[in-house]
Amino acid sequence: MPKFQSFIWLLNNKGIWSGAEVAKWANTVIPCPRCQQPVETLEHSFWSCPTIQVFWANVLSCLKLSATTDFNWKSIVTLTYNLQPTKASITNHLTIISALWAIHCTRLASIYKNKSTDHHHIYNKWHAIIQTIIRAKHRTSSSSILN
Ligand SMILES: [Zn+2]
Repeated sequence: MPKFQSFIWLLNNKGIWSGAEVAKWANTVIPCPRCQQPVETLEHSFWSCPTIQVFWANVLSCLKLSATTDFNWKSIVTLTYNLQPTKASITNHLTIISALWAIHCTRLASIYKNKSTDHHHIYNKWHAIIQTIIRAKHRTSSSSILN
């Protein structure tokens, strides 16, 4: 998934600007578009924002993980650095990266299109992304059967 890889590259290399980064240059306060907290760091936008915490709780319960012990911001960063996952970890890897992508897309929609993005919106976006992946995978495997 080249789209995911370049997104993860940007995330790891701080190529995605947080409100806190922009505020340094613009000399102003740019709050979190979701919760209006005045300092929006990347960790806040992708993990600790209250809206995002509800979303992650839903995602992790789907994956049978618990947010406090098994999974935290550090695990996301570690996971996203491991771009060559093993076959066993690929499912969780893709679902977590899809979740980050859903957070990213809905965040941009709330910044640039002024769309409200509560945790239901993010969850629905995540669900749609997963379905697209499954459909693409299905298409790939059925075409390889035909060939
Ligand atoms: Zn927030």
